[in-house]
Amino acid sequence: MRRATVVGAGVFGAWTAHALTRRGWKITLVDHHGPANSRSSSGGETRIIRSGYGSLARYTRWAADALVQWLDLEQRTGERLFVRTGALFLGGESAWLADTASTLRSEQIPTEWLDGAELASRFPQLHFPDASGALLEPQAGALFARRAVQALVRSLVETGVTVRTERIDPATLTRESSDDVLVFACGAWLPSLFPEVLGHLVFPTRQEVYFFGAPSGDTRFAAPELPAWVAFDEGVYGLPDLDHRGVKVAVDAHGPPVDPESMERSVDAPAITRAREVLRRRLPSLADAPLLESRVCQYENTTNGHFLIDRLPGHDRVWIVGGGSGHGFKHGPVVGRYVADLIEGGGEPEAVFQLAGRPPRSRAVY
Ligand SMILES: Cc1cc2nc3c(=O)[nH]c(=O)nc-3n(C[C@H](O)[C@H](O)[C@H](O)COP(=O)(O)OP(=O)(O)OC[C@H]3O[C@@H](n4cnc5c(N)ncnc54)[C@H](O)[C@@H]3O)c2cc1C
Repeated sequence: MRRATVVGAGVFGAWTAHALTRRGWKITLVDHHGPANSRSSSGGETRIIRSGYGSLARYTRWAADALVQWLDLEQRTGERLFVRTGALFLGGESAWLADTASTLRSEQIPTEWLDGAELASRFPQLHFPDASGALLEPQAGALFARRAVQALVRSLVETGVTVRTERIDPATLTRESSDDVLVFACGAWLPSLFPEVLGHLVFPTRQEVYFFGAPSGDTRFAAPELPAWVAFDEGVYGLPDLDHRGVKVAVDAHGPPVDPESMERSVDAPAITRAREVLRRRLPSLADAPLLESRVCQYENTTNGHFLIDRLPGHDRVWIVGGGSGHGFKHGPVVGRYVADLIEGGGEPEAVFQLAGRPPRSRAVY
């Protein structure tokens, strides 16, 4: 029987394990802190799934395809994993917005263009008075991230996947003589596990997320009244109150470099003040709302934001899968299938995902 060890039970590792086990592989899935743990990028409460990706049609198609598979997982596990909130793209006259509208149109993904007046009357709780308009992707929504990955891993166990809590040292594993395929889907740990190969290709940054409490009985900030919203030109986004956790606001701009293992995950007063400034500007009736929860996570950025999917140089049976770069969660099901296709088919990943030929650091994917 063909065998693989997948190291890292975040969204990429879990879906890779899923794709391989479906094809008859014997899989061991290992994570040193457990599936979707609190240090992992996949361990957050919620993640947006949207097909709007500027002109990057590959990610548009992948996200649409992934949503079908997330919904299938939801049906199989009987757990609520997705809420169709819609996603509202703001950003004034930005080329990204125009490209998104045109790519979604050509991929036949429904959208609505709201002019400034329609935006204000349809979503009065959002304050973008200078926007000439905004693009709504009604089929987009939010995934309950930690819950979804943990549900997936439970379903993997039921189908015979062995799940272990253990730290894997790549040096030991890659030296072992077995013919097993190894997949390192280790998120922000990748540069420390493979410093020579990945130290200059993956940059973990600290990212903070805040959940504020709307007044009792005020439904304007819950789905479906408030959609997911993103304003990439000012580096902020938010989600409605889901599962009564609070209205989410986050800064998408890259924070300072961090070590995912040792980073202290509390937020300080100046950071809360900055989050409140976003509220004051964009959701003004929540400006003084109480902070209910905060989460500190990390993006595992590649130099340009495209994922890393490739063999470890010099090791035909060892794969690196990561570089979610702040947008990877939604794509988990498709990444897993893509990796399984490569492992089985023996082909080369598309150039954009390869380790070699990465451009210097400049973010190109939002
Ligand atoms: C604040 C925030 C908001 C985001 N918002 C979105 C969004 O709205 N939409 C979206 O699509 N994406 C979003 N993302 C990005 C997305 O969450 C990540 O790209 C994705 O979760 C990365 O998954 P992963 O499996 O590669 O990494 P991880 O989830 O970090 O998993 C890696 C795993 O590897 C394990 N590991 C590491 N080293 C070892 C070792 N040596 N031995 C054993 N185990 C090991 C870790 O414990 C960890 O569990 C966001 C990320 C953050 C931080």
